[in-house]
Order: sequence, then structure tokens, then C-alpha cells
Amino acid sequence: DAPLAVADPEVAEYIGRELRRQQDTLEMIASENFAAVAAMQAQGSVLTNKYAEGYPGRRYYGGCENVDVIESLAISRIKDLFGAKFANVQPHSGAQANAAAMQALIKPGDTILGLSLAHGGHLTHGMRINFSGLLYEVAAYEVSKEDHRIDMAEVARLAREHRPKLIIAGWSAYPRHLDFARFREIADEVGAYLMVDMAHFAGLVAAGLHPSPVPHAHVVTTTTHKTLGGPRGGVILSNDPDLAKKINSAVFPGQQGGPLEHVIAAKAVAFRMAADPSFTDRQQRTLRGAALLAQRLVQPDVADAGITVLTGGTEVHLVLVDLRDSDLDGRAAEDRLHSVGITVNRNAVPFDPRPPMVTSGLRIGTPALATRGFTDTDFTEVADIIATALIAPVGELADDLADGLRARVAALAARHPLYVGTDPVGSA
Ligand code: PLP
Repeated sequence: DAPLAVADPEVAEYIGRELRRQQDTLEMIASENFAAVAAMQAQGSVLTNKYAEGYPGRRYYGGCENVDVIESLAISRIKDLFGAKFANVQPHSGAQANAAAMQALIKPGDTILGLSLAHGGHLTHGMRINFSGLLYEVAAYEVSKEDHRIDMAEVARLAREHRPKLIIAGWSAYPRHLDFARFREIADEVGAYLMVDMAHFAGLVAAGLHPSPVPHAHVVTTTTHKTLGGPRGGVILSNDPDLAKKINSAVFPGQQGGPLEHVIAAKAVAFRMAADPSFTDRQQRTLRGAALLAQRLVQPDVADAGITVLTGGTEVHLVLVDLRDSDLDGRAAEDRLHSVGITVNRNAVPFDPRPPMVTSGLRIGTPALATRGFTDTDFTEVADIIATALIAPVGELADDLADGLRARVAALAARHPLYVGTDPVGSA
């Protein structure tokens, strides 16, 4: 029973370093967040030892009396949070949730219609070498060339042409709300199911700050670790009583074996926290932070450098920076922000002329900093640091400029300490 630092000093060392990296830098990867210590405690618990194939009250293993209660709590909490009649909290990840939802709804060889990966969709929405592209025929809608928004008339046209069995709405990189009601009308017209993958914006929906897909979709999938702020994992929701059994059997035994009850416990903790008023405040700061960043990045000094913001702004927790007209490419921009202590990811923009490993875009998100407690003042400062770094001449940042930006980042990090007093080797 030696503690980690003694049993495995190498792993302990790098967990400690990762803690310090998270504390000392500004995390702005739009899909990341900081799970609460309470959730990490649940995830690091003895529940990791338990096999519990099946569902609460109907398990294939003995000794499930405690995990039954925990999984039932997770289910009822997330149903309440999103006003859904049915929830499956067992998917190990967002990709697993999508695989199971598709298995429940359609058969291999059926056609799916989702947002193209190159225009902000996810791998599981039909990418060629993903399970979704291998098992199903794929048709994809794109954003329009003019305003970079999804054109619902085009979605309807493609649905009539391809007659998909499943339409997928949802994204990994798109800064606007989706018209769920219109998606459902189109699905009904062509006899397709509608699946909404709200992985990115679930936290905003939970806080009532983003339209909810739950009343419109046959099935809603989500991750639990992005805006929702819980442990890494997936969930499937539905209001359709006919689908509940199919979804459960598609998750287990369809896609998975034993559920991760330690993660499910952490999900339960996160869902409880998401019902607290402080969560709404956090999501409000997330949205305001993204809006402040977008406002700064459309100022003339940034425009003069050939840098713009896709769709001219944002309604969600992220901003997509368009570098197509800039000498700075996505990779160089990502490296430059990294060099001053801000972590973002480069991202292809629609109609990107640069290769996928380079790209002409950045995806910058505010959920993790909002969790850290950032206010409007802090986000205004972050936005100016980012703008200043991006508009500097191409090449390495001048030393005095880089030192100044690093000091400003360090001051923000120090103003909002993270995981104070947490055991750095992860036992939280
Ligand atoms: N769905 C969307 C829209 C996503 O953005 C992601 C992850 O980035 C996923 C699903 C997959 O989630 P996971 O990485 O947990 O498999």
C-alpha cells in the first residue's frame, strides 16, 4: 500500500509536473476544463475495482449494491439537469457514446448526414477512417462560403438528395447556435433520426444559456469533461421511450463491457455541481470571456495583420481565429501562444488552403479559465495578450515582447490559483 510517490516515483514526478503546468499556464483549449477535486476523489476511489456489467438492479455480477446507488444517482441527476426522460451514463467517452447511439438507431450501410470534419464536425460524424465512416455511408453538409454558418436550406437539400437514416447536428469547432427545431423538421421530412452531439456546449445548455437540443432530438449525446466540467466520459440522453432499451443494449453489450463505476461516481458529483447556481455563474463568465476575446480580435490592429474571427464573433465558449490572410499560420500561432504560456490548438478553418498539420486557424476557448475564476477584467487582459502576440511580425517573438507577455500571463495565473493544497501525485 505504498503511496504513488514511493511505488512509482517516475509517474508521480510527471503527474506533479503536469499539475504545475496546469497551474502556471493559461489553458484555452476549448474542449478542456478543470474537474473539481471532489470529482477526482470519486474517480480515484476503490470503485475502480468493481465489475458491474449490466444496469442498476440488473447486473451480471454480485456485490453491486453500492455502485447501483451511485449509478442511479448519476442517471437521475443528469435527467433532471437536462429535462430528459432517459439517460445512459456508461459510455467511456464521447466517441463511445456516439458509436453506441448510432448502433442503436441505424444499421451498417445506412447513410448518415453530419457536419464535415473540415468545417467543424467531429471524427465520429462520418470521417473516412473513423468507425462512422467505415460502417456507414456518409454525406456531409458544410458551412457556407459567404458567412461560414450552416445553411439550413443546404442541409435540407442534401437530406432530400441522400435520404439519410440519421442526421447529426453538433460540432467540435463552430461558434454559433444550431437550429435544432429546423434540423428535426428536416429529419422528419426524410424519415431520419436526429442525433445532437452537444459535447462542446452541454455546460451552457445545463446552465440555461444555450438552446437545448433535448426537446428536439431523438437522441442527444455528450461528453462530460468539456464545458460540463466533469471527468472524461460520455452520456446518452433521450426523451423517446421506444429508444431507451435499444440504447442500453447498444452501450452494453453492444460497445462496452464493464462500466467505469469510478468515473460514473465522478460524473454524479459533476452533475450535482452543475445544478448549483455557481455553475451558472461560471458558464456566464465562460460566455462573456469568449465574447470579450472575439471583440478584441476584430479590432483594427488585428485586422491589419490579416487576422479575423470566423462569423465575426461567437455565441458560445470558443472563438475561431481565421489566419487565411495572415502570414502567420496555425502552427506558428499555436507555438507563439505556447511560448508565452497560453495553450490553444490550431484548427483547420473551412476552405483552408494550408495542409492539415499546419492549418490557418486557432480554436480558443474560455471554459477552463472561467472554472479558475476569471472575470471580465481578466478575460480582457487575456484577450489583449493574445492579440499582441498574434500581431507581432512573423518569426520568433522579440525577447522583450515575449518576456512582457509571459509576465502578464504569470500575473493572471497567480491571481487565480488552481488546485491549491492538492496532493500533486494525484490522490487529491
Ligand atoms: N463529439 C464532439 C462534438 C467532440 O468535440 C468530441 C471530442 O472532441 C467527441 C464527441 C469525442 O469525445 P471523446 O474524446 O471523449 O471521445
